[in-house]
Amino acid sequence: MNRWGKGKSDMALVLLVEDEKLLRWSLKQRLEKDGHQVHAAEDLAEATSHINKHRPDLLLLDLGLPDGHGLDFFEQNRSILEETVVLVMTAVGQVEDAVRAMKLGALDFLSKPIDHMALVELVNRSIEVRTTKRDAGLARRFQERQLKEEVIAESEEFRRTLEIATEVSRSQVQPILLLGESGTGKNVVARHIHRVSERRNQPFLEVNCAAIPEQLMESELFGHEKGAFTDAKSSRKGSFELAEGGTVLLDEVGEIRYDLQAKLLHLLEDRTFRRVGGARELRADVTVVAATNRDLRRMVAQKEFRDDLYYRLSVFPIEIPALRDRKDDILPLARMFLKNLKKKTGRVFDCLTREAENVLLSYSWPGNIRELRNVMERAVILERGPHLEARSLVLDCIQTVISPEEALGSPAPAEMPQGIVPLEEVEREMVKRAMDAAGDNQTRAAELLGVSRDQLRYRLKKFEE
Ligand code: CA
Repeated sequence: MNRWGKGKSDMALVLLVEDEKLLRWSLKQRLEKDGHQVHAAEDLAEATSHINKHRPDLLLLDLGLPDGHGLDFFEQNRSILEETVVLVMTAVGQVEDAVRAMKLGALDFLSKPIDHMALVELVNRSIEVRTTKRDAGLARRFQERQLKEEVIAESEEFRRTLEIATEVSRSQVQPILLLGESGTGKNVVARHIHRVSERRNQPFLEVNCAAIPEQLMESELFGHEKGAFTDAKSSRKGSFELAEGGTVLLDEVGEIRYDLQAKLLHLLEDRTFRRVGGARELRADVTVVAATNRDLRRMVAQKEFRDDLYYRLSVFPIEIPALRDRKDDILPLARMFLKNLKKKTGRVFDCLTREAENVLLSYSWPGNIRELRNVMERAVILERGPHLEARSLVLDCIQTVISPEEALGSPAPAEMPQGIVPLEEVEREMVKRAMDAAGDNQTRAAELLGVSRDQLRYRLKKFEE
C-alpha cells in the first residue's frame, strides 16, 4: 500500500553506555566492524549529554553504572528516546530489571556475558524494527486522519471551494496555494485535495513550517546525508522523500527561511532536490500544497519572501472562506463538535436552543472554525444538557458580535471622543460616517442611524454650511 518500508536501514547511530572499559571497547569494535557509528559513554552523565545533542537510532544500555541505574536514566529520558530502539544489558538473574525495562519500552535485553554474534544479530534486527516502527507510526497517523475526516460543506461558499479544489487536484497541476485566515481549515482542504487525487493511496504528510526550529528546517524538508553537519551521524529522509508518491502540505509556508525558499523553488520547478550534504539529485514525486494566512505579496514587498517563489506558488491560489462568510456551515459544524464531544465527555446534548443558535449565527468568528470548536468545548463543560443554552456560549471578543446591519457592510464602531464635545460635532461625525458607509445612499444611511430620511436630510442641510 505504501512505499515507506523500502528505505535501506543497514547502518545506525548507536549509543553504547557501559562502564567496564574492556567490554566497552570490544562492543564498540564489533559494531563498528558492521558499519555502525558508535558513541561509547562510560557513565550516565556522558550519555545524557550525548542524547541531548544527538538522536541515536539505538541505545545499548548497561544497568549498573557508576553514577546511577540505567533504567532510571531511560525513564527520565523517555520522550527524547521516543524514536530510539533501546536494548538493555543485564547480568544473569536480574529478572526484575528485565521486566521493568520491557515496561519502559525497551525492545529486548541481552544477558551478560555478551555473545558478540547474538549482539550483532539483535542490533540488525532492532534497526529494522526501528524503521518499521517509524514508518508504521506515519502510516497510522495518516490513516487515523483519513478515518476521522468529516467535511462539513452545507454552505454554497465552501462547497464551491471544495469543487475548485477537486478540479485543481484532478488537473494535476501544482503547486496549489491555499489562502485564508487562520483556523479556516486549510488542512481540511489540503487533505481533500489529496483524497480526490490519484495519489490518494500514498502518504499525506503535513509539515507545519512555523513549528520546526529554523536550523532543522532544511533537513526536515529535504533530508540529510551522514556527516552533512555535526549532528548528522546517519542519513535521514526528509518530508519530500517520506511522502514519495503522495502529497506534502507545507503549512505556514511564509515562515520558510529566505535562503531555503530558493531550494524549494528549485524543487517545484525541476522536480528534483538534494539532501543536505548530498551530491545526488533525487526526484521529488509529490504534489506540493502550500498554505498560509500571511499576506505573501506584502512579504515580497518587504523582501521577506522571494518574488519568484511567490509567483510560482500563486499560479493556483484557492481562497478558503472565513467562517463568517460561510454562515450555513456554522450550525452544522457546531452540531458536529457537540457530537464529537459526546464521545469524549459522555455528555449528551439534544440540540442548541434557538437563542444559542442565534448567538452562534450573529458572531463574527475572528478565530474561525478553531474558535467555534473552542467555544463548543467550553460550553459543554458549563452545561449539563440536554439543551445547550446561549448563556453557556462564552465568546472571546464579545464586542465583535455584529448586528444584521453591520453584517451588510460595516461602518467602524463609534469611538467616543475624549472629554466633552458639543453634541453637534458628534452628530456631524456620525452622519458623515453613515453616508460613507452607505455609499451616499440617503435611505440606507438613515437606516444605519435609526432616523427617518427626512431627519437625515435636515441634518445634511444643517451641516452643509
Ligand atoms: Ca556495569
